[in-house]
Amino acid sequence: IELSRGKRAVEHRAVKARDPTPVEELSPADVFIAVKTTKKYHHTRLDLLLDTWISTNMLQTYVFTDGEDDRLRKRMGSHMINTNCSAAHSRQALSCKMAVEYDTFISSGKKWFCHVDDDNYLNIRPLVKLLSHYSHAHDVYIGRPSLDRPLEATERFGDSHTRPVRFWFATGGAGFCVSRGLALKMSPWASGGNFMTTADRIRLPDDCTVGYIIEALLGVGLIRSPLFHSHLENLQLVSLTQIHHQVTLSYGAVDSKRNIINVRGALSLDEDPTRFRSVHCVLYPDTPWCSALTWY
Ligand code: UDP
Ligand code: MN
Repeated sequence: IELSRGKRAVEHRAVKARDPTPVEELSPADVFIAVKTTKKYHHTRLDLLLDTWISTNMLQTYVFTDGEDDRLRKRMGSHMINTNCSAAHSRQALSCKMAVEYDTFISSGKKWFCHVDDDNYLNIRPLVKLLSHYSHAHDVYIGRPSLDRPLEATERFGDSHTRPVRFWFATGGAGFCVSRGLALKMSPWASGGNFMTTADRIRLPDDCTVGYIIEALLGVGLIRSPLFHSHLENLQLVSLTQIHHQVTLSYGAVDSKRNIINVRGALSLDEDPTRFRSVHCVLYPDTPWCSALTWY
């Protein structure tokens, strides 16, 4: 009897560990999704997202770009935000965009800020489920680091005074989220023109600067989640059976070899080189252009 009681207790704990009770009732409308892009990728990258995951999340998704585009404006209206930041791939230009993403989120009043790149697929259902296990009023920074050690940087104060600093950061290319409670605390270093000044202080890109503000300046630790994926990892390792549970996916190339999700379906590699359309059809089979395809 003792043994079976013990076994039951263990089983009970296992179930709880797998699916803890949500802390907060959350819906997609509570999440502010910021997509970073640039004018030259409107056609080559953004159209694919608009045809797939953005189409099912139009109300909570905002695209941050650096140039006007009538076609995109027609498709997204006020959800296309022209940051007027430089279109260069410079540290400053990228920080300028993150600064606008931050300010727009703060004025939106939403509970969660989530950032993705324009080569990410965002799966809203597991995202909402994941975030519902935390309180948006608490300090929450969640994502996936791309390094296996903390980043070592140098803080500069004025002309001569410097100090070494170490912190973890969630890589922007896998997407990350910040709770409203924490975002409000970031304000002295992130709002208005402050984000650019902070980024200049450590001379690092936008996603590292977010980690610097949260970990080094506010002392809040990054929560690591294996559900976020960038093309810096081997995407073949994400199995199809896990697709429904992943929060973000990506695509890329390593030494001119494709690094993509391994999903078969009606669309060939030529028709769907990123595999995002095929993934979308697995997740939303009722999509008209998906049901028109013959699956094998
Ligand atoms: N990006 C940008 N301006 C640029 C180049 C890139 O805003 O001049 C954005 C791009 O749209 C993407 C992110 O920065 O959202 C990362 O770019 P990419 O995937 O090309 O580079 P990675 O850092 O992943 O190698
Ligand atoms: Mn990328």
